[in-house]
Amino acid sequence: MPHPVSNPDPLNQPAQLDDYNLFLSDLPLQQSVANEAGTGMLTPLNHLGAELGTAGCFALGRKANLHPPQLRRYDAGGRRIDHVEFDPSWHALMQLATASRLHNGAWGDADDSGIARAARFILHAQVEAGTLCPVTMTYGAVPVLQRTLLAAGAPLASWQAALLSGQYDPSDLPASRKAGLLIGMGMTEKQGGSDVRANTTLAVADGQAGPDQAYRLHGHKWFFSVPQSDAHLVLAQASGGLSCFLLPRILPDGSRNAIRLERLKDKLGNRSNASSEVEFDGALAWLVGEEGKGGRTILEMGGHTRFDCALGSAGLMRRALSIAIYHARRRYAFGKPLVAHPIMTNVLADMALELEGITALLLRLARWREPAAPEREQALARVLTPAAKYLVCKRGAAFVAEAMEVLGGNGYIEESDLPRLYREMPVNAIWEGSGNIMALDLLRALEKEPAVPAALQAFFAPLASSHSLLRPAWAELRTLIAHPQEAQMREVAERLVYLTAAAVLLESGDSTVADAWCRGRLQTRFSQFGANIWHADTLLRRALPDF
Ligand SMILES: Cc1cc2nc3c(=O)[nH]c(=O)nc-3n(C[C@H](O)[C@H](O)[C@H](O)COP(=O)(O)OP(=O)(O)OC[C@H]3O[C@@H](n4cnc5c(N)ncnc54)[C@H](O)[C@@H]3O)c2cc1C
Repeated sequence: MPHPVSNPDPLNQPAQLDDYNLFLSDLPLQQSVANEAGTGMLTPLNHLGAELGTAGCFALGRKANLHPPQLRRYDAGGRRIDHVEFDPSWHALMQLATASRLHNGAWGDADDSGIARAARFILHAQVEAGTLCPVTMTYGAVPVLQRTLLAAGAPLASWQAALLSGQYDPSDLPASRKAGLLIGMGMTEKQGGSDVRANTTLAVADGQAGPDQAYRLHGHKWFFSVPQSDAHLVLAQASGGLSCFLLPRILPDGSRNAIRLERLKDKLGNRSNASSEVEFDGALAWLVGEEGKGGRTILEMGGHTRFDCALGSAGLMRRALSIAIYHARRRYAFGKPLVAHPIMTNVLADMALELEGITALLLRLARWREPAAPEREQALARVLTPAAKYLVCKRGAAFVAEAMEVLGGNGYIEESDLPRLYREMPVNAIWEGSGNIMALDLLRALEKEPAVPAALQAFFAPLASSHSLLRPAWAELRTLIAHPQEAQMREVAERLVYLTAAAVLLESGDSTVADAWCRGRLQTRFSQFGANIWHADTLLRRALPDF
């Protein structure tokens, strides 16, 4: 009689969800793209979804986070090199992200759109999120630089081609000799991050002062991500006040700029990406725009990076949902698949609903954020960008925790990918303006931008007049924003996001999903996933094909 093998092939343990098309399997995303941009974008997104969804790509994402970057401050002879060394998987992922034009999108390619880029961003986030940091900062910096230092005839015009290319070039050459460029941002100092006015880094003109001129920077940055970037936009105090500078890593003559990398941060998540502490010892930088206008310039870039934080969180949530549904359809407990137990059906369907609403909202917001969008839509984008960043990034951590629980103990184990997704979540809520800062930004827009109240009224009033759940929800929100109070701004942000998603779903989404959203997010107060859910079967069918 043969002995039973000590470690048999496991029964009732579903395989890992690898090798599937990230776009074709995501009906809500396909429909949102088609609704906002037409069907022309679907084929390239389908190809990208197939490329990114391979087991090989998921393996790159795991490896890049298992082998975080290392700082080499000195060479063997004791000379400072301030070099950050990455695992090859990081470079392969960066190649994918730049080929996908996440770092320059429509800034360099008139056939591209912010809507298609938003979908690509959501797809890439499902594979690896650390690489989103360099591409979002570059994307935020491009329009500012195109208008100033890199404009035709301006001192750095020769950088344009590389900045707008689809190439990834990690070499240590001066920017003017490279095939592709990355730009970082440095605002946060030890004594203040949200309050950038507290910056103490000093900028002294290296000759003549003024736009495009050279300055010397003396000081530090406490958070300085992607230190291997070709240049950073940094804030420093010039004689005219807080100003924005472009600080190259390698100077035009090929020597290193006086930027000392003190340490790489030991982070909760986002471990594939290097975030450093730096000191400037007379580093050369060029003034971007005028002295004293640095805060305004950073705010412009913040609009782009904040939107990307919400997109990145939506991508992480999508990967977590796919893993959870896939598992629950295959794992049996008490005689039937997990997904067939009514209470588990509701949990998964509610998570699917959350992403239906978020996806519809973010793709609409991508349309409203287009530079050529009508003024009314731009006013809506002005308030919805901080509100969406606030709510989506906050909801992300609870969402991934719930997905983890669907897998039980296996969900808590690294191989499931869920611990990495979970660790990644909080940073999107913290950087580029933490929760309260987003709420305060919403307050500023409501108080200071005259086009905003009228745009909200014009968007919501017609729909509210004909919908029994939208009507009271809009009436309550209208009361709150008529005399906006700082202490109520988190509440306002949440209501604004829910109501906008409802309006978008009613206008152009699936009618059953719209009904589920209005009942589950407007009629009842959200508490935990699975508490209040309608049309669960439809939501689950739409969420992931049964492959
Ligand atoms: C992994 C990582 C990478 C980063 N990379 C970069 C980078 O590349 N470049 C860069 O410049 N920064 C970077 N940061 C820094 C990040 O942007 C800041 O941490 C963030 O802006 C918050 O600033 P702070 O840490 O100084 O916190 P604080 O400003 O001290 O804020 C602490 C808390 O107080 C709240 N708060 C602040 N002001 C108010 C107020 N008026 N009313 C109510 N609440 C308030 C905030 O919402 C926050 O919750 C990075 C951070 C992390 C975690």
